Amino acid sequence: MQRLSDISTIRAVMEKNGFSFSKALGQNFLINPSVCPRMAEMSGAADCAGAIEVGPGIGVLTYELSQVSKKVVTIELDKRLLPVLDETLKVINDDVMKIDLHRVIEEEFNGEEVAVCANLPYYITSPVIMKLLEDRLPITSITVMVQKEAAERLCAQPGTRECGAVSAAVQYYAEPEILFEVSRGSFMPAPNVDSAVIQLRIRKEPPVDVHDEALFFRVIRAAFAQRRKTAVNSISNTLHMSKQQVTDAFEQVGVRANSRAEALTLPEFAAIVNQLAE
Ligand code: SAM
Repeated sequence: MQRLSDISTIRAVMEKNGFSFSKALGQNFLINPSVCPRMAEMSGAADCAGAIEVGPGIGVLTYELSQVSKKVVTIELDKRLLPVLDETLKVINDDVMKIDLHRVIEEEFNGEEVAVCANLPYYITSPVIMKLLEDRLPITSITVMVQKEAAERLCAQPGTRECGAVSAAVQYYAEPEILFEVSRGSFMPAPNVDSAVIQLRIRKEPPVDVHDEALFFRVIRAAFAQRRKTAVNSISNTLHMSKQQVTDAFEQVGVRANSRAEALTLPEFAAIVNQLAE
C-alpha cells in the first residue's frame, strides 16, 4: 500500500479512478500530511491486536495505521472506493451502523482487543460513537476526527454547561479527551467548520454503580430533553412520571430539586436513578 500524504498523489489516484466526492456520505478526505501519522501514533493501535478504521476513503489514514499496527481492517460503505483500496487492504464493504463488529473482531483479530481510529463521516458522528460504546466491544480506545463543536460536546464533563445527554453517556463508558485541533484546510473538499481529534479510552468498569442501566440512560436523555426547564420538570414531562415522585428522588439523595440537567454530575444522576428504580 502506498503513502498518500501529498495532494498531487491523492489527486492522481482519484483521477485515475474517476472518483468524485459524495457529500451525502460525508466525504471530506484528509490532505494534510502531518495529521494522519499523528492520529495513528496516538491511536494506541501499536499496543493491541490491530486497528479498525471506519470509512478509509482512499486510504490516507489507513496507510499510517498499517505502519504502526499488526493489522488494519476497514469498513467502507462506498463501493466506488473498493478498486482504489483493493491493492493491499482488508476492506469490508458495509455500513458501520449495520455491521456486527463483535463478529468482525472475532474473525479478524481472534477476539483480541483492538483500537478504533477514523476520520468519521460527520453525518453520523454520534450514532457511530454510541454504537461502538454500547456494543461493549473488545476495544481499548476510539481515536476519531470529528467537528470541533462535536468534540467539545462529546468530551464535556457532566456538571458543566457544554454537557448534554451524549457527553454523560460517553463519560459512563470512557474517559474522553480532545487530542488536537485540525483546520478545515486540511481536507478536500474543505468543510465549513474546523475539526478536532478526540480520544475515548474505554473504561474497564463504569465510574458509577447503576442498578438499571436502561433506566439510567432514559433518565439522562429525558433530563436534557428540555434544557431550559429544571431537570425534575424535564424528566417528569418526558417520561410521564409524577413530578412529586421525581422531586422526592432528588431530595432523598441530596440534590436540589431546582437543578438543571447540565449542573448534575454522573454520581448524582446514578443516585437519582437508583432511587427512582426502587
Ligand atoms: N479516512 C479518509 C480520510 O481521512 O481521508 C476518509 C474520511 S471521510 C470523512 C468518511 C468516509 O466514511 C468516506 O470514505 C465515506 O465513504 C465513509 N462512510 C460514510 N458513511 C459510512 C458508513 N455508514 N459506514 C462506513 N463508511 C462510511
